[in-house]
Amino acid sequence: MTRSAVIIGAGQAGLTMATALREQGWEGEIHLVGEEYHLPYQRPPLSKGYLAGYENREALLLRSAEAIEQDGVVLHLGTSVAAIDRAERAVELEGSGALPYDVLIIATGSAPRLLGIPGSELDGVHAVRTIEDADRLRDDLARGGRTVFIGAGFLNLEVAVEALKHGAACVLEVAPQILGRVLSRETANALQQYHSDLGIEILCDAAITALRGAGGRVTGIELANGEVMPAERVVLSIGAIARDELATAAGLETGGGIVVDSALRTSDDRIFAIGDCAKYPSPWAGTQMRVESVQNATDQARHLAEALVSGRGGAYRAVPWFWSIQGERRLQIAGIAMPDDDARLVEQGDGGRLVVERIREGEVVAVESINAPAAHMKARRTLAALLA
Ligand SMILES: Cc1cc2nc3c(=O)[nH]c(=O)nc-3n(C[C@H](O)[C@H](O)[C@H](O)COP(=O)(O)OP(=O)(O)OC[C@H]3O[C@@H](n4cnc5c(N)ncnc54)[C@H](O)[C@@H]3O)c2cc1C
Repeated sequence: MTRSAVIIGAGQAGLTMATALREQGWEGEIHLVGEEYHLPYQRPPLSKGYLAGYENREALLLRSAEAIEQDGVVLHLGTSVAAIDRAERAVELEGSGALPYDVLIIATGSAPRLLGIPGSELDGVHAVRTIEDADRLRDDLARGGRTVFIGAGFLNLEVAVEALKHGAACVLEVAPQILGRVLSRETANALQQYHSDLGIEILCDAAITALRGAGGRVTGIELANGEVMPAERVVLSIGAIARDELATAAGLETGGGIVVDSALRTSDDRIFAIGDCAKYPSPWAGTQMRVESVQNATDQARHLAEALVSGRGGAYRAVPWFWSIQGERRLQIAGIAMPDDDARLVEQGDGGRLVVERIREGEVVAVESINAPAAHMKARRTLAALLA
């Protein structure tokens, strides 16, 4: 008897899941349901080439409509899943009936964390997650003037380089150091120096109390020390939260993400979660965590597809890796380091080249590199061999 698979979320993880299921030989129906109206697309260029205008919408698409159709994947675009009915084994579509499933995969991604302070709703306050967000920001940047960034994460540091082409750029970070939770001090300092040299102002220990506005549009940022910093626009990037609301409402175990076991299975045997929304036991971090990266979304999808078709379980253990392009700096990370892990500077050279190993209990658990792609690839191979 063939089984029917329903995938909620037609993003990086959902599309990879649908494609990989067919590649692996899944014979039943595959329904891919996505609330966005676009064909499945990649998000990284939204803060890089697409925002800068080097890449167009076509270049963002992960697969053509024809290729998806040829795989026999039924694509439901512009369709939101309103609820999961576990007793009936069906998902309820917003305003258009229900889809029964034998296996359900939740790949609903994450959403920007919002700032709960006065003025957050003003025009000119941006967060980038979708094509529409990037279009709005690009149009706004073209107006020129000063852009103030709240949060010195990867995303904002990428966008700041683009904003600088149109006017001043200032990045505010509430912590004493940029990227302190995800990078060694050595690597974070190198990036901070690069941005400062470009002319981007970075202010740490900057707590924000309110956004000021006039005529419904943001005009400035009020800091805890009473200073008001003028801003033509504000870009917010203070982390993302898992889109786990459907899972929570369906009574699945959640808490900062959809909780899954090492086989990516939720607390319901027939329901799995992958990508940004899934909180899984990472052998690399030694804890249950969510990972927001293309690698995580695609590798989890491929792992799960193989497991579902073959019937062989097995833990998901792929080496995590990540990249961020900030102007002339390509940061790459292999593995996952925790803030308390040690750092060892391995190499520092011309053109911003840097390699830093992160060490836990005497073992290298991650390698951070800037403009050193060969070192990154080598680190991935070395880390993979540890699990072999
Ligand atoms: C601007 C930006 C830049 C990035 N840059 C990098 C980078 O350089 N390197 C890197 O590794 N990663 C980067 N990332 C992260 C990476 O894009 C994500 O980790 C990846 O997209 C996660 O894939 P996903 O499928 O889990 O989620 P998504 O791609 O977000 O897909 C989830 C989809 O589910 C849909 N959905 C949610 N709820 C429902 C519902 N109820 N019904 C129907 N559909 C629903 C959402 O609308 C969305 O389309 C970036 C992310 C952003 C936003």
